[in-house]
Amino acid sequence: MTTPYEYAQTHKARFEDELAALVRIPSVSTDPDRVADVMAAAQWLADHMRHVGIENVEVMPTGGHPVVYGDWLHAGADAPTLLIYGHYDVQPAAMSDGWTSDPFIPVVRDGKMYARGSSDDKGQMFAHLKAFESVMQTEGKLPINIKYLIEGEEEIGSEHLYAFVAAHKEKFKADLCALSDGGFRTKDEPAITYSTRGMSYMQFDVQGPARDLHSGAYGGVVHNPALALAQIISKLHNADSSVAVPGFYDDVIQMTTEERADLAKLDMDEAGLRAEIGIPQSWGEEGYTLYERVGARPTLEVNGFVSGFYGEGSKTVLPAKAMAKISCRLVANQTPQRIYELVKAYVASITPPGVTCEVRLLNIGDPAYIDRSRDEVKAAERAYEKGWGKPPIFMRTGGTLPILATFRRELGIDSLMLDYGLITDGAHGPDEHYDLEMFHKGIATTIAYLHEFGK
Ligand SMILES: [Zn+2]
Repeated sequence: MTTPYEYAQTHKARFEDELAALVRIPSVSTDPDRVADVMAAAQWLADHMRHVGIENVEVMPTGGHPVVYGDWLHAGADAPTLLIYGHYDVQPAAMSDGWTSDPFIPVVRDGKMYARGSSDDKGQMFAHLKAFESVMQTEGKLPINIKYLIEGEEEIGSEHLYAFVAAHKEKFKADLCALSDGGFRTKDEPAITYSTRGMSYMQFDVQGPARDLHSGAYGGVVHNPALALAQIISKLHNADSSVAVPGFYDDVIQMTTEERADLAKLDMDEAGLRAEIGIPQSWGEEGYTLYERVGARPTLEVNGFVSGFYGEGSKTVLPAKAMAKISCRLVANQTPQRIYELVKAYVASITPPGVTCEVRLLNIGDPAYIDRSRDEVKAAERAYEKGWGKPPIFMRTGGTLPILATFRRELGIDSLMLDYGLITDGAHGPDEHYDLEMFHKGIATTIAYLHEFGK
């Protein structure tokens, strides 16, 4: 009997042709002229899902671009259910951005398919459908239940997805979400990303006198709001560069020794960082590696800071107000609302008496984290060993992926990032490409995961 892996090998060329057909559809979600193309991609995907045997396939309206849903639920009530998330929309792309060939006419050069969306995320997402096909065509059934949620607005912030998921909780109910929409550092270093950071974005408004004043007439008797805000900001960090807000670190899950040893292997190199971004020296929380500071520790950053006169020449003004944009990147189990309240209380305690400082919350995003000791993560380790021939490394990313927090909040499930791309694929940039070896290994890894997940 043919195994799913053999089937995938035999049909490699066809799988690539099908992926090429999907990336030809310019489903640029941000472009109002491409609405019909985004819909065409959704329809193509729905047809293809039906074709490979996925059931209950629907193109579901969301208020924006549709979600494509499908499932296969015949493994029985005792078998676990896996939710696969991906997206079929893409970033804009034009020859004038510096592409070597038309971004919507896929060309394979040197084993890589060059086209917008080839990696992010059509190629990585399509690997999941081809794995499903390979298992169904050879074994006739799956050992687990599976659901697919493929959206069309990821590149524009998944605007309608949050309410959509909340409105369809039962439909998307599952034990875990898996997604493939990121990259390894090198081809031979498969990686599982198990945490993303959250966000608490605030604005500080300092008010001094009721109006701008003459610095000759009032300078020396008024606490200048620009100075007061600088003084407030200067107290947000301790001498060791940790965040000074009391309680800030209370809910942070401490890293284990094993975890830190693994993350140490990924550490950035100080000299390389200096050269890359042109700084004389790195900065950050003492006692943590550069990698940990970005991926595993929360931070507080000043994103903007304005006051007074900043035009050409000079103006002897004593400004009435000053404003700063301040954001915190958060890690599990910090919550954005609690961090905002802690910052607000601390700022109230350090605001000089000559001014007032209002702290407002503008934006939030929860961090996401999955415990590495869970069975589903162990299953993913075994799947990568099968698909790649070597065990994965474990990564934490410094960015924020609000959709994962939505799955946690609305569906009560964690998410696992099984990346099948490379960070060098050029996602969002010119000459985006997908290494077809990654595509085929991604299919093999998914086949293995479908078998390992329930064990
Ligand atoms: Zn993506």
